[in-house]
Amino acid sequence: MTLMNRINFYSINLTNRLTELPDAFYQKVEPQAIDQPEIVSSNKKLAESLGLTEDNLKSEAFLDILACKQLPENACSLATVYSGHQFGQYNPQLGDGRALLIGEIQTANGFTELQLKGSGMTPFSRMGDGRAVLRSTIREYLGQEAMHGLKIPTTRSLAMATSKTPVYRETVETAATLIRTAESFIRFGHFEYFFYTKQTEYLQTLLDFVVDHYYPEMKETATPYADFFLEVVKRTAKLIAAWQAYGFCHGVMNTDNLSILGLTLDYGPFAFMDDFDLGHICNHSDTTGRYAFNQQINIGLWNLNALAHSLSPFIDEENLRFALQQYEPTFHAHYQALMAQKLGLTDWATSDSKAFSQHLGLLLSQLNQQKTDYTLFFRELSKGAMDKNSVIDFTQFKPWLEVYHQHQDDKPMDAMLSVNPKFILRNHLSQQAIDAAKLGDFSVVNDLLKILQSPFDEHNTLDRFAEPPEDKDKHLPISCSS
Ligand code: AMP
Ligand code: MG
Repeated sequence: MTLMNRINFYSINLTNRLTELPDAFYQKVEPQAIDQPEIVSSNKKLAESLGLTEDNLKSEAFLDILACKQLPENACSLATVYSGHQFGQYNPQLGDGRALLIGEIQTANGFTELQLKGSGMTPFSRMGDGRAVLRSTIREYLGQEAMHGLKIPTTRSLAMATSKTPVYRETVETAATLIRTAESFIRFGHFEYFFYTKQTEYLQTLLDFVVDHYYPEMKETATPYADFFLEVVKRTAKLIAAWQAYGFCHGVMNTDNLSILGLTLDYGPFAFMDDFDLGHICNHSDTTGRYAFNQQINIGLWNLNALAHSLSPFIDEENLRFALQQYEPTFHAHYQALMAQKLGLTDWATSDSKAFSQHLGLLLSQLNQQKTDYTLFFRELSKGAMDKNSVIDFTQFKPWLEVYHQHQDDKPMDAMLSVNPKFILRNHLSQQAIDAAKLGDFSVVNDLLKILQSPFDEHNTLDRFAEPPEDKDKHLPISCSS
């Protein structure tokens, strides 16, 4: 048994490396308690990897954190300042408006920050109340774990709690809280803040902090800052390639929602697509389609340009340009590789990438035209079944399939099933979890958590969650109001 297993959660050993930074980076804030808190779901798998036991999760001290009532003895409780480009416009003052850093847990695998979201107002709350409503907390809680289940870099969910505290949105709702984790929650926007406020010394402090703690391998090179930025470019390109390969639409790719570590961050009006639609806009508030599914690739580069601008005092133009030029080839190579695996065409993709690419393009335009369910198409294709009862009408793809079968890898099935999920977090499933939760039933949240953590497995008793939505449930409006 590790030491952590035996200690009381109030005295859990937390480190706070962010407090090494000067006061200009954050403000200390006390969380504001919620009424009648109840932990309704916790993530045992993640807890275990952090050295926490079920007893820890059930302890009063753990509930007190989610209740925003009392933090562990050596917690730090701070909100950081950042800014960012929101829908293309620079917003000079953002920051953690409803989340507090509590501290880091150190394990053999490194440091993991714990952030408490929905903890009440901070100096960065602007017009907001510092709270998160139940529906958006459920979506983020499940979204993070669904992404992790798909092996895509992301922040994660440790536990969530409900309360009776009223929260006013379009109607009266109730507040919920979430403990989310990441190696770091630092965003592109943190760098933009110190650049645009001309606090160049602090900008360098931040740069050094991030390189020292999260990119230590860059310290050994001749140009650490330039190499760090190049790595951020590559991680971002790979992240977005994975989103595109799995039909994920983030919905609010503002620079303040982009992680400096290349993690999927800030799950708001996101969606995993049902019917494939290249121009899909998942965010009801995105009236111009700036963050449409097929725009995400360009927006990733746009955001990296914004970051490059903020790093320009410390990295020369030539190196910034060079790094940015690596975005497209990195995206392309990673996307092609993922799609080749999904299709079981890895040999063809390696031997004749041009022909593979054309064949993939043909498929995507056909999926788009026919608005085929994206996830099920690949899952059914993996089974090689294509039976008459399949929800996918494979007869429509006959000419494409004829060429496809000529190039398939040798015995591709197991490999394909291990990359094409049976389950994704469809919007109608989140909605089912939310509807049940509003009636006090968290079994759907917990069932979904279980299948989404291993979405490539069969989970036969929970088959109903693999079904596509009925037409009426296909376009549920999801907005930023969370
Ligand atoms: P988001 O679009 O959710 O990433 O949020 C953008 C900014 O608004 C961030 O600085 C958030 O902390 C802040 N924010 C969003 N909702 C609230 C809220 N209810 N109360 C306080 N701040 C909020
Ligand atoms: Mg955000």
